[in-house]
Amino acid sequence: MEQLVTSDFKLGIIAGGQLGKMLVLAASNWDVKTYVLDTEVHCPASTCCTTFVKGNQLEYDDVIKFGAMVDLITFEIENVNIKALQKLKSEGKKIFPDPDALAIIQDKGLQKEFYKENNIPSPQFNLFPSKSSLITAINTGEISFPFVQKLRMGGYDGKGVVIIKSSTELEKLLDGPSLVEKLVDIQKEISVIVARNHHGEMKCFPVVEMEFNDANMVETLICPSSLDAKITEQATKIATDIIASFKLCGLLAVELFVDKNNVVWVNEIAPRPHNSGHHTIESTITSQYEQLLRAIFDFPLGSTQVKMPSVMINLLGEPGYEGKVKYEGLTDCMGIEGVKIHLYGKKITNPFRKMGHVTVLGNSLEEAKKKASIVKQKLKVKSW
Ligand code: ADP
Repeated sequence: MEQLVTSDFKLGIIAGGQLGKMLVLAASNWDVKTYVLDTEVHCPASTCCTTFVKGNQLEYDDVIKFGAMVDLITFEIENVNIKALQKLKSEGKKIFPDPDALAIIQDKGLQKEFYKENNIPSPQFNLFPSKSSLITAINTGEISFPFVQKLRMGGYDGKGVVIIKSSTELEKLLDGPSLVEKLVDIQKEISVIVARNHHGEMKCFPVVEMEFNDANMVETLICPSSLDAKITEQATKIATDIIASFKLCGLLAVELFVDKNNVVWVNEIAPRPHNSGHHTIESTITSQYEQLLRAIFDFPLGSTQVKMPSVMINLLGEPGYEGKVKYEGLTDCMGIEGVKIHLYGKKITNPFRKMGHVTVLGNSLEEAKKKASIVKQKLKVKSW
């Protein structure tokens, strides 16, 4: 591949949320121009990209026009107009990860079929075209309780997922094409981010443990995981098997469950930088954002070795506060050694909105956990 890092090179990033912003910041260390497509003029990445392009990533024409402005396209969100990406690819535009892989991953039903075809361990599932066809399957005994229902398209942060334990909970069923999955008796939810470049070189970040809040969003992330080495090795192997099966160039975040019998199952994947990799900015030698750039620019991948153990806390809008954002406790937290605060620059907060994150480094995980619990108490996202 030709040398891509030159001051004339235009990297296009679809969507400019916090992941786009952190990707732009990593790219700004190199000699490339960054173009960001987003509907929101004040999106997080708009403050630091070279050129902001207003447009909707779901609109065919907007994506085509954006493609014409840049040399290479990547994305920080799965929900992108695939037809436009496929058209651009057919005309020779470089797009990484490949739109055909994104088309499979966008649809949780196709994702599950891919796991089955490639012998990737994932909970047993059935597909249903509608809520009424699922109700028929429940009535005939084809589906039994408990189970998890997931909408095939468009879900995020637990929206589009319901756990149904008995017939009294059927009013929670979601409408639309969905998949029904076996309920896993979860011991821990973990994640592995893996990168692959054009030459097929692959590297995994260390396994992290995720803790969720009541709104089903990652609240705390622990790196490295204290799980048994056998389990972390298995999770790492599964992640590399998936990225190799897709022959995907870029990053793949693999979310997994460890069940109460220590069996590892894939929950879902995302072909982009991921919330479960925020800590890599400070806690590993290469960040997930730099690693994505290395992969798509076809450089050797960077070391993913842990520099210091870390706990990452998502800074979510406090429930009960809505409006112009105000951060409480910043000065106190800045005074704690190893506390690295990231504010995304969103102007308006609302309950549980992802407004920033904090990575807390420690000489040991215990030390990082202690400091993180202080940060959790002190640092609050409220409104004026
Ligand atoms: P999203 O795409 O919205 O993040 P997920 O598929 O990750 O949705 O599901 C959200 C949460 O629901 C998971 O983090 C997990 O806690 C729970 N969950 C999902 N699938 C299962 C399952 N098969 N068994 C048990 N819990 C599940």
